[in-house]
Amino acid sequence: PVSKLSSPGHVSRLLEQHGVKLKKKWGQNFLVDENILKKIISAADVQKSDRILEIGPGIGSLTQKLAENASRVLTVEIDTRLIPVLRETLAEYDNVEIIHGDAMDFDPAPVCEEGPVKLVANLPYNVATPLLYRWLKDSRNCFSRLVCMVQKEVAERIVAKPGSKAYGTLSVICNYAARCEIAFDVPRTVFFPRPDVSSAVVQLIPYHVPAEDVADDAFFFKVVEAVFAQRRKTLLNTLNAAFPLTKEQLTAVCSAVEIDLSRRGETLTLQEFAKLSRVLYNKVG
Ligand code: SAM
Repeated sequence: PVSKLSSPGHVSRLLEQHGVKLKKKWGQNFLVDENILKKIISAADVQKSDRILEIGPGIGSLTQKLAENASRVLTVEIDTRLIPVLRETLAEYDNVEIIHGDAMDFDPAPVCEEGPVKLVANLPYNVATPLLYRWLKDSRNCFSRLVCMVQKEVAERIVAKPGSKAYGTLSVICNYAARCEIAFDVPRTVFFPRPDVSSAVVQLIPYHVPAEDVADDAFFFKVVEAVFAQRRKTLLNTLNAAFPLTKEQLTAVCSAVEIDLSRRGETLTLQEFAKLSRVLYNKVG
């Protein structure tokens, strides 16, 4: 069914009735387009048996569609003022649980005890990057799929290729942990109110076994973070500053695996980061 929440007029009255003035800092731009909602449900391949975790339900536009198509939906909203709105817009669904809280403090592990869940969300711009980064690092086995609307620029960072400006820790960690793609772009016009930037929906399918053998997960993340913290320096200088190895030791270790230390770290592929992590871990891990 077409929801009333896809009418900007209805949304604006609903917010007024509840005395809610939207806050920019929480990225409160709500989807008012049935077609985009359907496309998100289809990108997430939502099935009747699915358990879904949603972050930032807002007024519940996406939540309604998730509730109609999945088995259970757990949704986490930070804004106290939106909880009564959600109770109203989600009143007819008995398979939705609304949690009032900050997604950054939310541990997905207990939710996944019964098996992996799907994360489906129109992520608030302020938490998209740290949340994806943290969950792919620490909790990726929790998710069978992550389908998220993010700012276009974040989506481009996720799928960026080595050497490009957008390539960074997020690109390497996402592609280490999951098969990543941009499902589709989303124009500003499908939101109320309209945001300043365009968005895209990304689809991440975590690997059971990560894409590369890195010897040790935590150490690998440390290497990637150290390299991008100094992305324009040569690998030799970066690694020398970050790890207790002399330039001579580093040169010996890296020439054995054919990594040229005069390169800038930002040009390394995922495979090269993995190789680097393995040899360094053997020395100092
Ligand atoms: N899902 C809705 C939709 O598609 O129309 C709303 C998406 S809106 C872009 C982001 C929502 O996330 C807002 O409702 C905002 O209050 C909420 N939010 C912002 N920061 C949050 C956080 N740290 N934890 C949980 N929710 C947050």
